[in-house]
Amino acid sequence: MAAKLLAGQTALVTGAATGIGRATAVALAGEGARVWINHRDQQSLAERLVEDIMADGGAACAIEADVSDPAAVAAMFETILGTGQLDMLVNNAGVILEKPFLATDEADWARVLGVDLGAVYRCCRHALRHMQPRRSGAIVNVSSDLGFLGREHYAAYCTAKAGVIGLTRSLAREFAADGIRVNGVAPGPIATAMVSPEHMSEEWMARELAIPMARLGTPEEVAAAIVFLLSPRASYFTGQILGPNGGSWMGA
Ligand code: NAD
Repeated sequence: MAAKLLAGQTALVTGAATGIGRATAVALAGEGARVWINHRDQQSLAERLVEDIMADGGAACAIEADVSDPAAVAAMFETILGTGQLDMLVNNAGVILEKPFLATDEADWARVLGVDLGAVYRCCRHALRHMQPRRSGAIVNVSSDLGFLGREHYAAYCTAKAGVIGLTRSLAREFAADGIRVNGVAPGPIATAMVSPEHMSEEWMARELAIPMARLGTPEEVAAAIVFLLSPRASYFTGQILGPNGGSWMGA
């Protein structure tokens, strides 16, 4: 039997108990990676995911940390690196906020930027400090098509996701000579809790389903792009932002 694509490698996926993070953890484990399942206050979901992965012959471990908290992230990396190396990082954890800009106060701004951009910054720093001396590693940051497009009533989210693109491309340039690849995905609307039906207005549905493929994406379709970018198959990709989006945005 052929060796699996990511056999012998270890990955950390943030916000991995649900949605795109969960699908990514399953896909990484399916390719032979050992996966750390980061979550915040979702112990039972994370443990169920670990059980599912192990039942399929994979290896995974749940680890709790609020990625907006620098001390919690430092402790998480201490635990992970205390057990061995980290080859791959997926910065997936995210929160969304729909609010008119003038109602978006300092606390809202800090909360959204703290998770959607701040966590990417701090997890990348911990991972890169470890990866640089080893001269290998791969990172995928989860942005959004809204990071390119912007949207009314989503200024904090769009700003953070645009920041993720700038951070990804900057780190790709800075760490290429160290043998580390840094890429991103900018999904269109994906069927997860973040866009559950109760959050979809008629106007939202009309706009989103005007995409050429006329449907929402699945978490597994985003996970496939993430696994590709992390894998040796993407050995000449760095600083790239792939867009699993059904054709809704072709400008990246
Ligand atoms: P989701 O809500 O299922 O996943 C987000 C996960 O992040 C949740 O498990 C949540 O608990 C976790 N999380 C939030 N704050 C955290 C924190 N402080 N610490 C640790 N974990 C935290 O939704 P999803 O759609 O799977 O979102 C995953 C990523 O994909 C997010 O970054 C999101 O912005 C991005 N994205 C989603 C869509 C979409 O349409 N669903 C589109 C583009 C980008």
